[in-house]
Amino acid sequence: MSKKRHSLLVRLVLTVIISFGLIPVVNAQASATPFSRSRWPRAQVTYVIQAPSYQRNVYLAAIRAWNATGQFRFVQGSNAHHQVILTTSTSTTGQFYRLSGITFQTGYHNGYYTQSRVLLLTRNLSNFRYSYTDQVHVAEHELGHSMGLQHSRDRHSVMLNNNRYNGISSADIAAVRLRYRLAVGRL
Ligand SMILES: [Zn+2]
Repeated sequence: MSKKRHSLLVRLVLTVIISFGLIPVVNAQASATPFSRSRWPRAQVTYVIQAPSYQRNVYLAAIRAWNATGQFRFVQGSNAHHQVILTTSTSTTGQFYRLSGITFQTGYHNGYYTQSRVLLLTRNLSNFRYSYTDQVHVAEHELGHSMGLQHSRDRHSVMLNNNRYNGISSADIAAVRLRYRLAVGRL
């Protein structure tokens, strides 16, 4: 109820701004997916998966989905040579409390990412009854973070906070495309 009133208020405010023509306002229903000032040196990284076979397949499905966008490539590396580690944890407490997945950017050089670590939190995923498809969406979201995407308020974005049901949207693809056409440090 209060949420509905809030969005009505937002819409009224937007209408007023547009009618005065003060600033260009993007449609709030399809807002751009935000991204970090940091990025990888290229729109391509090597990865290694260290996970049970179920989550390995989840990660591979998410990688296929991002690679199919044509804007970024995850390429298989090795245990010795990789930039991104895709792994799992059974922890449910501390920083993992009620999270389905988490991404750590673990290395930087001159503003560029050099190392990233992605975790699917398998016990939380099963406790909250995430289906295989739900888990692929979580992996797509975390891979989005590993590329430099941030949380979106667009209800269709894969980067929605706590995303479970959204796949990769056209706004998400556009954000990756723009992120890797802009220099590091630029938004
Ligand atoms: Zn997130």
